[in-house]
Amino acid sequence: MASIYRDAHLTLAAATSGAATEGFLHYGHLAAEQKLPFWMEWKTHSGQQSTLGARIVPALTTHTPAGDDSPPLSLRGWTLQESKLSRRVLTYTREELWWSCLGESACECGTLDKLQEEEKRLEFNSFYSINNPQEAYKNWYYTVSEYTSRALTNPLDMLPAISGIARVVQDITNSQYIAGLWLDNFIFGLTWQAGTLHTIKSSSAALALSDYRAPTFSWASVERAIYDTIGHWFSANSCTVIETESKVPGRNPLGQVQSASVTLRGLIFKTTLQIEYSFFGIHDISSYVVPCADTKLTFYPDMALESFEAINPDGVTERLSLGHLCSYSILDIAWAAAAGKKPFATIS
Ligand SMILES: [Zn+2]
Repeated sequence: MASIYRDAHLTLAAATSGAATEGFLHYGHLAAEQKLPFWMEWKTHSGQQSTLGARIVPALTTHTPAGDDSPPLSLRGWTLQESKLSRRVLTYTREELWWSCLGESACECGTLDKLQEEEKRLEFNSFYSINNPQEAYKNWYYTVSEYTSRALTNPLDMLPAISGIARVVQDITNSQYIAGLWLDNFIFGLTWQAGTLHTIKSSSAALALSDYRAPTFSWASVERAIYDTIGHWFSANSCTVIETESKVPGRNPLGQVQSASVTLRGLIFKTTLQIEYSFFGIHDISSYVVPCADTKLTFYPDMALESFEAINPDGVTERLSLGHLCSYSILDIAWAAAAGKKPFATIS
């Protein structure tokens, strides 16, 4: 798949199509309703024969904004590779055409033309503009964040649908691929989180998939993963990879994974996971803290904790499952905290 996009002179992208079976030319394109471009023979001041042309430029409001109104194409998992692996893309949006290539991005209304270079790079970030491993890893994690917010009809396509990009990253880095992570960048690769900090704090933690898709250390094992590249607390020197193993069911080493494991060496310490309460405005947010020396580290679990022991309001130690945890409403927790009956939990 990677070579098809790479070798194509031009990729036509149907941004309005929600599926491969949908067409896109049946839309009443705004430009089709306009008068034909004006043109006439013309002579310049120096008498040189030329042509004078003019056309109506769509208003800036015709530009499809990012966010909830994003074109259906940008919500489909398999189509991400179109933009990441093509050298030139002509995109048919509902109202106008967009042009993107390694050197330029433009659209009929002029919005893309006016973007700064860095913004243009985000609009069209082809992997063929990358030539060093660190840049390839960084773009891989950006891509995974974007990719995992898209929809896949078949959940087992999670790794195959991005395998074309993985192939290009491997060509650049020459690194071993392990269920969506790279051996030469493995410790950083482990630092994905299921959702943004905001969604983790404001909603219940993500549950593991019922069917096996990838090992739990891989972002591909959950429905949504985000790589936060800012402010990581870890040091790559604090942990080293001893051994890895990855088995695939087919002939594509970058596609589906059958099983995978990793052995790490690093410092660990035993501690207690405590539930702590805080109040912000009208919302009560519970979080965990981990005592560490003279301080306490705040801990927001992005994945559901499977089971733990806790002291109930009567002072009896109980082993609670996830379901029990969910039965604590925010109000119940607030009352428990107000009464000075803060339960604590230990992971075991
Ligand atoms: Zn535009």
